[in-house]
Amino acid sequence: MMVAIIIKSSRELELMRRAGKATGRVLDILAKSVKAGIKTRELDRIASEEAANQGGKPTFKGYQGFPACVCVSINNEIVHGIPGERVIKEGDIVSLDFGLEIDGFQGDTAVTVAVGDVTPAADDLIRVTRDSLAAGISAARRGCKIGDISAEIQQYVESRGYSVVREYTGHGIGRDMHEDPQVPNFGQAGTGQLLKRGMTLALEPMVTAGGWRTRLGNDHWVVYTADGSLAAHFEHTIAITDGEAEILTAV
Ligand code: MG
Repeated sequence: MMVAIIIKSSRELELMRRAGKATGRVLDILAKSVKAGIKTRELDRIASEEAANQGGKPTFKGYQGFPACVCVSINNEIVHGIPGERVIKEGDIVSLDFGLEIDGFQGDTAVTVAVGDVTPAADDLIRVTRDSLAAGISAARRGCKIGDISAEIQQYVESRGYSVVREYTGHGIGRDMHEDPQVPNFGQAGTGQLLKRGMTLALEPMVTAGGWRTRLGNDHWVVYTADGSLAAHFEHTIAITDGEAEILTAV
């Protein structure tokens, strides 16, 4: 199936850079705010305040009815956790996913944070997930294909004994948070859309310590690992260039 992929002009890329940088800054502040004893609702308050400080609008709030500015997903929760009364504890791993719109363009980025001393297994999962995103970004080169990114992430993760989530994927991003194409975290090298300069993508491996199957929570938002294993999630918004991809949400 052919999909309509939007190539950004240099002016649009400049706006994507601005939105991406601001999104990354807010996520960085959120990540540093995660500590034992804080309620997840407090992180949402910080996200709202910092989004305003950046002059942006939190994209997730109201998106398909999502009630908060940031997704906070803890331990066996993979993505889309709704902030609320839950108190973060020492030893938790906390995934934060944040999107921001500035002047009509989007940034989308995620990180998993260890709270104090976590188990070596949790620490390793976080490290491998972070590094799998870096591996995916290194494969995101003009002239390569979407499947090269997917295969790179999958091979990196599975060679270390972990699984990649199948039901949720990376995506094109620009004026809309979700544009074509989808960027799965598994697949065959050499398949899919050709990567061209000016494409902007959100790569976001979701990695589990157990199997890849997921389960939707009773609130119809939070996504758990089906087997109760730990999960981690890292995401950057990137632009395809003539050389290495530019990481727009880096701080
Ligand atoms: Mg995303």
